[in-house]
Amino acid sequence: MNPGQRTNLIGLSRDELIGRLAGLGEKPFRAKQLWHWIYHRGEADFAAMTTLSKGFRQTLAEHFTAARPEISRQQKSKDGACKWLLRFADGNEAETVFIPEDGRGALCVSSQIGCTLTCGFCHTGTQLLVRDLTAGEIVGQVMVARDAYGEWPSPRDERLLSNIVLMGMGEPLFNYDNVAKAVKIIMDGEGIAISKRRITLSTSGVVPRIRQCGRELGVNLAVSLHAVNDGLRDELVPINRKYPLAELLRACRDYPGSNNARRITFEYLMLKGVNDSEAEARQLARLIKGIPAKFNLIQFNPWPGAPYEGSSPAVIKRFAAILNDCGYSAPIRVPRGRDIMAACGQLRSDSQRQSRHKKRVEAGIEDDFHHRGA
Ligand code: SAH
Ligand code: SF4
Repeated sequence: MNPGQRTNLIGLSRDELIGRLAGLGEKPFRAKQLWHWIYHRGEADFAAMTTLSKGFRQTLAEHFTAARPEISRQQKSKDGACKWLLRFADGNEAETVFIPEDGRGALCVSSQIGCTLTCGFCHTGTQLLVRDLTAGEIVGQVMVARDAYGEWPSPRDERLLSNIVLMGMGEPLFNYDNVAKAVKIIMDGEGIAISKRRITLSTSGVVPRIRQCGRELGVNLAVSLHAVNDGLRDELVPINRKYPLAELLRACRDYPGSNNARRITFEYLMLKGVNDSEAEARQLARLIKGIPAKFNLIQFNPWPGAPYEGSSPAVIKRFAAILNDCGYSAPIRVPRGRDIMAACGQLRSDSQRQSRHKKRVEAGIEDDFHHRGA
């Protein structure tokens, strides 16, 4: 059987794995052993799975792979962030970014290639949705990062890759089934074992799915708020027209497991002259009253042609101080890895631009982009 015909086991649920092996006449305990090798030890080569019989290893190699997405580009930032552009089996690409912080770090994982939504400040929003990522492609991003940092077997403590944030390309709640399946694999205690307390899902506000996510996954919730009234939010985060602020905040109030120890994060992108006034800071505090909440004030990461500018550091500081006075934590998040363009969606389109440029040069067409000195 050629490799293209073999099934990739990464992304199958435990039950599916048991089913696949049963199809080959293998008992369920084999699935448990295999799960351990794939997700606890991180082994991709069946031949190296030495606790399995030789015959079984051969059978596995004939029918399956445990392949990661291919690394199309890898960039390390001066501040220690690392960004991968990953290529999946069909040639499509998505980004994964590792952001270190005090000896630990969060891996920012993509859920879709492109996005159906069109938030004007977001570079991914300028790209059409190509497709959803599969559960295997989402888990595969975590495995690539673990490979890169040598974090196998799955360490119990002192992990560098300690947290997962579903904040990369795409709207995770518009690809709920695949995201849920992937998150369950990532949380499984006999495998990658990153607990729900260390996983945060960021959404633009897909209200019915927020409820489902709370019930079924119980991961931390981050909501991209960015505006304190429906008029502005309709413009900045267009899904607000479908699920306006009152409904969104009701779903946040009801989010299970949120309490003072485990608060909902409200992301607020600071856009110059758009949503950054002192009055809006005060309205923001009033708006989320009663919800166990913290804020992340995000500095705008500019991209070529973006219709917005970021607020000045002094304005952001003042905004944060007002929230602090109202009793809220409001750290200012500087998008990390600026030197590798770590804003979501940028590496992929940068790569597309480069390959378009290459094709034009090969065809003898000079790219006027460069003549303009941009
Ligand atoms: N679709 C989800 C998750 C991906 S976007 C969501 O919207 O929440 C992750 C975060 O990056 C969101 O808070 C989004 O508003 C923010 N973001 C998008 N473009 C940005 C930019 N250019 N600079 C800074 N943050 C940006
Ligand atoms: Fe999609 Fe989130 Fe970007 Fe909006 S901010 S376009 S929802 S990825």
